[in-house]
This record gives sequence, structure tokens and C-alpha cells, in this order.
Amino acid sequence: MFRSLAACVVKNQRVEQLLAHQWLPHAKSRPCISCLSQQNSTKDADVLIIGGGAMGSSSAFFIKSKSPDLNVVVVERDPKYTQAATTLSVSSIRQQFSIKENIHLSMWSYQFLSSIGKHLRISDDDMPDVQLQNGAYLFLASETGDSVLCENVGLQRSVGAQVELLNPKELKTMFPWINPDGVYSASVGKANEGWFDPWSLLNSLRRKSIALGVKYINADAVNIAKGDDGMVAGAHLQDPSNPELKTYISCNKLVNAAGPWAGYLVQSIGIDLPVRPRKRHVFTFSCPKGPKDMVLAVDPSGCWFRKEGKGDLYLCGKAPDEDNDPDASDLTVDYDYFQEEIWPCLAERVPAFEELKLQHSWAGFYDYNTFDQNAIIGVHPDIHNLYFVNGFSGHGIQQSPAVGNAISELLIDGKYSTTDLTRFGFDRIRDCTPLREKNIV
Ligand SMILES: Cc1cc2nc3c(=O)[nH]c(=O)nc-3n(C[C@H](O)[C@H](O)[C@H](O)COP(=O)(O)OP(=O)(O)OC[C@H]3O[C@@H](n4cnc5c(N)ncnc54)[C@H](O)[C@@H]3O)c2cc1C
Repeated sequence: MFRSLAACVVKNQRVEQLLAHQWLPHAKSRPCISCLSQQNSTKDADVLIIGGGAMGSSSAFFIKSKSPDLNVVVVERDPKYTQAATTLSVSSIRQQFSIKENIHLSMWSYQFLSSIGKHLRISDDDMPDVQLQNGAYLFLASETGDSVLCENVGLQRSVGAQVELLNPKELKTMFPWINPDGVYSASVGKANEGWFDPWSLLNSLRRKSIALGVKYINADAVNIAKGDDGMVAGAHLQDPSNPELKTYISCNKLVNAAGPWAGYLVQSIGIDLPVRPRKRHVFTFSCPKGPKDMVLAVDPSGCWFRKEGKGDLYLCGKAPDEDNDPDASDLTVDYDYFQEEIWPCLAERVPAFEELKLQHSWAGFYDYNTFDQNAIIGVHPDIHNLYFVNGFSGHGIQQSPAVGNAISELLIDGKYSTTDLTRFGFDRIRDCTPLREKNIV
């Protein structure tokens, strides 16, 4: 499935020769689309995607589905995805955001996930299943957060999301296990929310992409190269297990899908993309007397929890304070964090959680946008063949289908047609005009 660099590249030999001979014969006729008309057919890849997680694989799938003649190559340094945000994700999906584009992206993605067999089936006896589970997000607001919560619900409803606003009495009636102390208002999703299996989604996207002809290379993209015209010319690759083994791949267009490491990837061409890996913990606990409702509750403190599976298991976590959230490079679990920061919140909000038993834990990297905690999607304003699908800050896996579709529209047609994501473009970073997503979990 993956071509390792070692297997297909001989030292000092350029990858384009090997690709051309081995598995990337260039199409004789180019697709008749305006934005690709300038293409130089001698490039190794029409579209080079760095990062083969949910964003990279979804982008590859949509681009290749819409333009089968394009050579689409995905470079992934870790085919086991041991540190990818995708595979370490909690993989929940909601409509409750503070920005209309985010609501649209998640609603579109929910529909895609609901009919994933139709989109990603390879054969009739090989149906993908992401185990999409209906659930609801339950946001709780204190007096301070009340006006923002009400404003968000107004926006969500105005774009077609089904969300109910609750006062503390209604909250207690609907969820008797909750201690409503300090809660001023709450919102609960009535449709298009839940959770799913991130591995199955990634695997289905990747397998379908490969079936369509996308090529995955196991290599580390160490540098992006620019041509004399200032546009991206290609990327320098290195074998992850043998750094001596290097090569170069040229491309017409490059998509940065490097997840938490997206900011580091473009440093080599002087772009300051404010996306950094930030550590987030997930703890699993059992609690036989815990609530049975399928909700993902978010406390005003930022602490969240949800049920996992049919038994008495729960997942929980909490984003650290801004001052205590450095860029991260290791995934060691801090158990004191659970004892000191999470358990007290859980036990206060749900008295039954006094008796919980910690089971497992893990940590993953958020692809955190330090500028405004929102996605950066689109083409670079000056480098017209460099595309971003970055900075999702904790809501990327759920939006990966819609974002893959959106970037395929922009890259192939030069414009968005499903959802206008212009406001998510890199221009706002350059112009220092943040578009803050207030509902970050
Ligand atoms: C603990 C946790 C919980 C989360 N919960 C949710 C949730 O409930 N709902 C939700 O929607 N989202 C959630 N997220 C966020 C979501 O997982 C991410 O936004 C999403 O998976 C990002 O996908 P990606 O493909 O951009 O990044 P990744 O999955 O990280 O993929 C990027 C890939 O790029 C590769 N790569 C990077 N640099 C290079 C390079 N130079 N050369 C080659 N390869 C490279 C990496 O190896 C990696 O595989 C969560 C994340 C975490 C960590």
C-alpha cells in the first residue's frame, strides 16, 4: 500500500524518474480545467499532499474522485500513524459552533459519515463502517458564558442546526444525574451529533484513495522548495528510518496536510503558519452508577466527558489553561492532571462520578491554531499553488470529509461551491484579523 522511500528510491536518483517509470505514468491528456492549464507535465505529481492523516487522505480522495487524470501523491512519514491527531482523536461530531462555516462543515460531514458506504465502498462485499453513534453535545454555561451560549444557539438554528436551549430546571428534568449548581443555561443538540471510529474513517479514506489511483509514499518531507517564480516547486524527502536516503519530488500544487506539524512544514519557505502541536489528554474511567445518556457534556470549566460503548465506560478530558499549554513534542501522560484538574470537576458536576475508577489514558497532539483556534483553509495569497487544510484545534476529524471536498473544489475549479470558506483563508493571518471560534473543547 505504502511505497517506502528506501524501496523505490536509489540514492542520488531523482524520484521523478522512478515515479515516472514505476507507478506514476503521466496522463496523456490533461484535464480540461482552467486552473491546471499551466501545468508542466514533467512534474512528478500534479498534486502533492504532505501528511496522510484524515485531512490529507480526504483531500486526496476528493481530488482524485473529481479529476481522475491527476497524479495525486501523498507523503506520510508514519504509516502506522502512532502520533497522528486522527488516530488519537476522540472523534466526536457536533453542530454547536460559534461560526457558521464550522456548523456547515460539520453538518455536511455528518451526512457523509451517515452514508459512508455509498462514498467509500470499494466493492459490495467490502463496505466501510465508521461505527457512527448518535449522541448529543450538551454545553453548560455559567452566568458569564450565558450570553455567548444563547448567541451561538441563535446562529446554529439560523443555519438549520437543531439545538435546544435549556434553563437549569429543564436541564435537571432532562438529565437528572447533573448537579446544575452554577449553570445558568445549557444547549443540547437534537440531530447530527455523536461520535465514530477515527481509524475506520482514515482507513476507508486511504483505501478508497489508493483504489482510485492515489500513491502513498512513506517519507518525511523535510523541506519545501520554491522555484524562481516564487511558487512551490516540490519537496525534499528523507527516508524516516534512514536519513541518509534523500530525494526530491516536484509538483504543480502542494497541499499542507501535516496536522499538528503544519506550521513546522512551511517554515522552510518563510511562512509563519500559527499551527503547533499542543498536548491533550484523554482518560477512560468506569462508573457503574454513572449516567446512561448518550451525551458529550462540556462543563463551564472546560472539563468534558462522554460515554464510550454500551457498558459503564466513559471518556473525559480538559484543555489546560492558556498559560500552561506549551508547544509539545512528547505524549507522556500526566496522571496528576486527572487527579488535580479533572476528577474534582467531574465529581462536582455528576455526583455519581465520586465513585469512578480510572482505567486507561492517552495523550495526543491537537493541531492547534495559536492565532484564533480556527481552521486555516485555502490557497496562500502570494504562493498560488500552496494550499492549507490546517489548524482545526480539536474539531478536525469531524470536518475532514467536508474539508477534503472543499479543498478539491478550490484546487480544481478555483472556487468553493459547497460552502464558501473564504473567511478561513490565510489572509486573516497576514492581515491580523482573527476569526475566533468560541466553542473550542
Ligand atoms: C486527544 C484528541 C482528541 C480529539 N478529539 C476530536 C474530536 O472529538 N472531534 C474532532 O473533530 N476532532 C478531534 N480532535 C482533532 C482531530 O483529531 C484533528 O483535528 C484531525 O485529526 C487532524 O487531522 P490531520 O490529518 O490534519 O492531522 P494528523 O492526523 O495528525 O495527520 C497529519 C499527518 O501528517 C504527517 N506528517 C506531518 N509532517 C510531515 C512531514 N513533514 N512529512 C511527512 N508526513 C508528515 C504525520 O505523520 C501525520 O500522520 C482530537 C485530537 C486529539 C489529539
